[in-house]
Amino acid sequence: MLKQCCACKLMLEPLKFNRDRSRSDGLNRKCRACSSAACSRWYEDNKASVAARSAEWREVNSDREKARVAAWRAANALRKRNTEVLYYAAHAEAKRASRRERHKRDSASLADGYVCAVLIEGTSLSRRDIPMALIELKREQLQVHRLLTGLDQAINGEPK
Ligand SMILES: [Zn+2]
Repeated sequence: MLKQCCACKLMLEPLKFNRDRSRSDGLNRKCRACSSAACSRWYEDNKASVAARSAEWREVNSDREKARVAAWRAANALRKRNTEVLYYAAHAEAKRASRRERHKRDSASLADGYVCAVLIEGTSLSRRDIPMALIELKREQLQVHRLLTGLDQAINGEPK
């Protein structure tokens, strides 16, 4: 069934009209083309007052908008800081744990670094000052000491 546009008077299919719930047939009285033309005309005629009103809105709301942005930034900065603190705490703990693990491994295997650290402990020497031969000697000494400790425990039981 065709419907007549009240503006251009053409008989058109219902699809050519915008919907309008307030009307009994559910369609606008003007066809889409006429509606859109009327809309453009209205905007052309009212451009200045539309611009003035939106400038006025921005003016009235600018303080509120600024406050909103500042609040968001503050909340976000706090959240970011908290995340960083948690991350570094977890990271530091993981680093300490891995250092402990490495120390245990190096100590168990009498690694060069560990033996060297035992050698320079209590001196102001650095690892670079220690010749490899000295590290080998110290390693043997530590091995002997550990053997003796094991023997002692085998004979006399765990130390009190
Ligand atoms: Zn029309």
